[in-house]
Amino acid sequence: MFGRAPKKSDNTKYYEILGVPKSASQDDLKKAYRKAAIKNHPDKGGDPEKFKELAQAYEVLSDPEKREIYDQYGEDALKEGMGGGGSHVDPFDIFSSFFGPSFGGGGSSRGRRQRRGEDVVHPLKVSLEDLYNGTSKKLSLSRNVICSKCKGKGSKSGASMRCPGCQGSGMKVTIRQLGPSMIQQMQQPCNECKGTGESINEKDRCPGCKGEKVIQEKKVLEVHVEKGMQHNQKITFPGEADEAPDTVTGDIVFVLQQKDHSKFKRKGEDLFYEHTLSLTEALCGFQFVLTHLDNRQLLIKSDPGEVVKPDQFKAINDEGMPIYQRPFMKGKLYIHFTVEFPDSLAPEQCKALETVLPPRPSSKLTDMEIDECEETTMHDVNNIEEEMRRKQAHAAQEAYEEDDEMPGGAQRVQCAQQ
Ligand SMILES: [Zn+2]
Ligand SMILES: [Zn+2]
Repeated sequence: MFGRAPKKSDNTKYYEILGVPKSASQDDLKKAYRKAAIKNHPDKGGDPEKFKELAQAYEVLSDPEKREIYDQYGEDALKEGMGGGGSHVDPFDIFSSFFGPSFGGGGSSRGRRQRRGEDVVHPLKVSLEDLYNGTSKKLSLSRNVICSKCKGKGSKSGASMRCPGCQGSGMKVTIRQLGPSMIQQMQQPCNECKGTGESINEKDRCPGCKGEKVIQEKKVLEVHVEKGMQHNQKITFPGEADEAPDTVTGDIVFVLQQKDHSKFKRKGEDLFYEHTLSLTEALCGFQFVLTHLDNRQLLIKSDPGEVVKPDQFKAINDEGMPIYQRPFMKGKLYIHFTVEFPDSLAPEQCKALETVLPPRPSSKLTDMEIDECEETTMHDVNNIEEEMRRKQAHAAQEAYEEDDEMPGGAQRVQCAQQ
């Protein structure tokens, strides 16, 4: 069983940690552990490593079988004997077997000992106005809380028995026949005790929770959405999730989900606004009213003589989003201008325009040179990206088919030459 040759000095360390001779009795070990563990408990400012070592040493030496292996072969032998994984001792478990779980009083020792309940995450839809102005939303949730009548024991007397379904282990092994010579063994939490390993006598059941240990409670949470909060930002209510016995209650977490806005787009602390100008407005000036997210009316106008070009951006300082936790500071408001051109002009309109617009560039080509050129026809391209995408997809398809050496290949080359 023990493949490696044991080292000599291996089997005294645990005695040294506890400060007892090798001949120490069980009582001596207990006293030594108790004294040292209190002194080194991390909650009392002790060294967690030392605390762990003490538990490890005590766990081995207090078990006569393990102590014998240790005395003869040392620490390594114990590790090998346990299937290579070493022993998984929770030092706090050993400690509380002496002093009970309440030692230390504070939540920290409980936190380490106890299971942590799951956090409950809710998405919370908010408008851009909500994030600009800040708001609070009341949400009604139902949650499990520890029954106050029985303090989470589930019974009137506070007593519980071992669950008969799983003999107190909380787990049940079920065997499934998968085929004539195949079985599957599965371990599942016991359904009778919901994995707790205990059951409560029917007569002793707490009338408040019917032995469930928890009761449902409706609770209204007020979520404060602060100015400038971001999409996906979390708002946490610590310890407001479902309560369960021997469990540190998880958090309720709201994750903000910003709804799209019909007028504004947000990029971090900046806002973007789309505005379309007629050609006359773009050339001769414009003014319009922009209703902001807090319903203020902003007057937006061009400078005298200013011309706005298609696709141009202009920015207004301090009219963007408020900055989170510094709401008096704001980003920029960008306005993106689209200019609507007329689809066509009558010849007289062209003549009239030519009198006020800059002259055309004079043609440097002679009639003779023009005669030598070839005539062309232009057609409209409404969406260049779309057209390019279609071309690429077509090329990819072609390459794929050529790889496959399909008989149609030759014909396609012909087409391409046309
Ligand atoms: Zn059970
Ligand atoms: Zn109860």
